[in-house]
Amino acid sequence: MIEYENLALANKVFFEEYTGAFATTLERGWYILGEQVKEFEKEYAAYLGVKHCIGVASGLDALYLALRAFNFSPGDEVIVPSNTYIATILSILQAGLVPVLVEPLIDTYNIDPAKIEEKITSKTRAIMVVHLYGKPCDMAPIMQIKEKYSLKLVEDCAQSHGATYHGKVTGTYGEFGAFSFYPTKNLGALGDAGAIVTNDDDLAIAIRRLRNYGSDVKYYNKLIGVNSRLDEFQAAFLRIKLRKLDEINAQKRRLAALYFEGLDNRFIKPVIQDSVYDVFHIFNIRYSRRDELRAYLLENGVKTEIHYPVAPHHQEAMQGVLANGSYPLSEAIHSTTLSLPLSFAHTEADIACVIEVVNSFPEK
Ligand SMILES: *Cc1c(COP(=O)(O)O)cnc(C)c1O
Repeated sequence: MIEYENLALANKVFFEEYTGAFATTLERGWYILGEQVKEFEKEYAAYLGVKHCIGVASGLDALYLALRAFNFSPGDEVIVPSNTYIATILSILQAGLVPVLVEPLIDTYNIDPAKIEEKITSKTRAIMVVHLYGKPCDMAPIMQIKEKYSLKLVEDCAQSHGATYHGKVTGTYGEFGAFSFYPTKNLGALGDAGAIVTNDDDLAIAIRRLRNYGSDVKYYNKLIGVNSRLDEFQAAFLRIKLRKLDEINAQKRRLAALYFEGLDNRFIKPVIQDSVYDVFHIFNIRYSRRDELRAYLLENGVKTEIHYPVAPHHQEAMQGVLANGSYPLSEAIHSTTLSLPLSFAHTEADIACVIEVVNSFPEK
């Protein structure tokens, strides 16, 4: 059986360093916002070449706190892709704002810059882009729209740690880059964790306050904040994994190259763009008989996933919440996409085996 993901195996190379970091942190006795968080924030900011990094409890919180820091008014609108993971949309709703869905491009699965302007109203305040599956969005036209309408920009980088567009790393285009370190992400912790990065000093102060009860000085509260702090132990583990992030990304790209080369052309593969460094958080293909293909793969020892089976506007929770609209491209992606095994723990032999089984799927 080829697993879709095996986290124990993927983390095995870090076992000794992790247990060492656990012991060090345990013995230090400072468990909330201590040295490990401080050092990780410094190291991740340096890795991205950004001024500030603020550790928070999750990727969802990173997105939510980024929006909170702008002090928008209730009912203000935020542009977001129609085919994103639900967390992106939840962050907008939690912040009391209105998500305005924009369709993706059918070849990159990222927000279609040409469709943003028609959705801008007098209430639009921000664009939240998502670098889906690890592939950076087409940032040049998005930056033009941002400037033209004086909008804020938040990048959902939960899937794009280290990915670049024209050499500039994702998370550094907007006011904020929001990261998740959920265990399966390219930079994954051993539990929930997230971070926000920014080059703006004032916004960084606002996030530091918001994540810690709205307080800079213990027991003095300036804002209605939340408790969303990066855990000290998770920060210790992340510092170790960060040193291997480039290698993890390179490994995923190496394995992705095998898929590009080996998979039959009847399966729609991700588009290859010279302008981006895609980190392949997910390697997806699209195929009309996706569910049959998935069942066939499982029967033949290959586990897969679907990112994601249900479009956000079709989620039960979103009925009566999102404005009615038609999102045929998003629906087409959700109904045909299939994610193949691709992780730091997979070998070239694993991928060769997956390719063989996928290609052997009988044509009708
Ligand atoms: C994982 C993910 C999130 C949420 O991150 P959590 O840490 O699970 O809260 C948000 N957006 C996208 C695109 C994601 O993939």
